[in-house]
Amino acid sequence: MSTSPSSRTITEPSREINVFHEADVVVVGGGPGGHSAAVAAARNGARTILIERYGHLGGMATGGIVIQIPHMSDGGKEPVIAGLSLEWLERLDTIGGTLRPRMEDIGSTDDKLVSYWRRFMGNVVNGRIEHTAWVDPELLKCVLNDMVGEVGVKLSLHSWGTQAIVENGSVKGVIFESKSGRQAVLGKVIIDGTGDGDLLPSAGAEFDGTIDASSRSSMLALVFRLGNCDYQKLCDLQEADRNKFQELMKELAEAAGTYILPLPSPRNDVLWFNNWIPGLDCTRVEDLTRLEVEMRQIMLRGHAFMKKNIPTFENSFILDTASQTGTRGSRRLVGEYVITKEDFQSCKKHDDTIAVLPRLGPPGDREVPHVYIPYRALVPVKAESLLVAGRSFSSDMEANNMANLIPHCIAMGEAAGTAAALAVKQGISLRKLDYNVLQKTLVKQGAVLPGIDVK
Ligand SMILES: Cc1cc2nc3c(=O)[nH]c(=O)nc-3n(C[C@H](O)[C@H](O)[C@H](O)COP(=O)(O)OP(=O)(O)OC[C@H]3O[C@@H](n4cnc5c(N)ncnc54)[C@H](O)[C@@H]3O)c2cc1C
Repeated sequence: MSTSPSSRTITEPSREINVFHEADVVVVGGGPGGHSAAVAAARNGARTILIERYGHLGGMATGGIVIQIPHMSDGGKEPVIAGLSLEWLERLDTIGGTLRPRMEDIGSTDDKLVSYWRRFMGNVVNGRIEHTAWVDPELLKCVLNDMVGEVGVKLSLHSWGTQAIVENGSVKGVIFESKSGRQAVLGKVIIDGTGDGDLLPSAGAEFDGTIDASSRSSMLALVFRLGNCDYQKLCDLQEADRNKFQELMKELAEAAGTYILPLPSPRNDVLWFNNWIPGLDCTRVEDLTRLEVEMRQIMLRGHAFMKKNIPTFENSFILDTASQTGTRGSRRLVGEYVITKEDFQSCKKHDDTIAVLPRLGPPGDREVPHVYIPYRALVPVKAESLLVAGRSFSSDMEANNMANLIPHCIAMGEAAGTAAALAVKQGISLRKLDYNVLQKTLVKQGAVLPGIDVK
């Protein structure tokens, strides 16, 4: 497959386009970051529109079939991440869309509980129950629709945000493409929740796209699910002989052509497969195309091997492939504060902390403090009236690699949306926002900021 673009260019004629909608807050991208930003903005009184390129919300957590929402606690009894993450799960619980420990069991070292949850990756860390959840992506799509619908967010699906509208360094709106053609949306604050920072170049914001080809964040994926499996049987197999199981997984990787990791779901008979394809760039359409084709070949080879050689899968079938390519890292904003690997190591606290992430220290070290995300990591150095929500937060590549998980992006999105609404209400610039008011509002709406003195 050729990857070299043509060097020919053409000039597009300029044209007048329709203004589709005007709002206080415009959010582009409805993944964990963008969805949370839109819900938080609307709950804080802002007229909000959410523009999403696909026909559903949730980003990687639904369309990408990334259905583990991990590490919302740190081994202790209290959650470190709550807010909208917890609301997702509580709503999903009521329709049978989750598998997670009971809140009262978080932090427990009870033998029976630990031996049950040990079978689920990330539910037991250092002998204690952690708040990690496994969710149903189809039910989650419904929950996320309800959350925006209930609070009056105007939703525009099948709408691809292509360009920021900028006047004198301030972002005034967004141009998007859809089956209805090219249209504009205008707003007082624009939030880039595309994950890939799609609006940053046209907004005139500085960003950094460098990424180490060996890092987790650089690797693309196409998650797939198998049905009619038996997850507990797979766990029995692993517990009976760990070395033999490792050998079997190695053989599976050889047969498939790359390492594919079976993971649980809320149903014992459905498994999802995480994967990591290096050397591709998620902002290059040729690489995205290659990934979609090659990963399906890998899936077919892997599935044939599993059916023949691993008891769990003898009667399994391919249930689905993700409708959304798995992208973990891309453009990162250069914000008023750039979070670095060193910040993570020193666990630096910030006065303007808007999200606290559970300890990310070396396994086994329970004394490592939390990681603190400042509001300034969402605010561009260049470009006014713009925020980011989700994995494009201002960070170096190592810090981004550690802190772009779903609950992290939800927490940052909730803060971005809340900040946008407060700034609009007060008629002030995003840079001038009083972070004490932001923190107080976040805590009032259910977020937790352990270790932060909220005044
Ligand atoms: C295979 C894989 C496994 C992972 N495993 C885990 C895991 O187990 N647990 C975990 O917590 N995290 C995991 N992650 C990371 C996590 O899924 C992401 O970091 C997280 O979803 C990022 O959220 P986000 O909202 O920033 O971006 P995304 O989830 O990427 O959402 C971005 C949204 O914006 C939309 N969008 C993009 N561009 C445009 C545009 N131009 N116009 C309109 N809409 C647009 C997208 O369609 C999408 O809905 C994994 C990621 C991958 C790929």
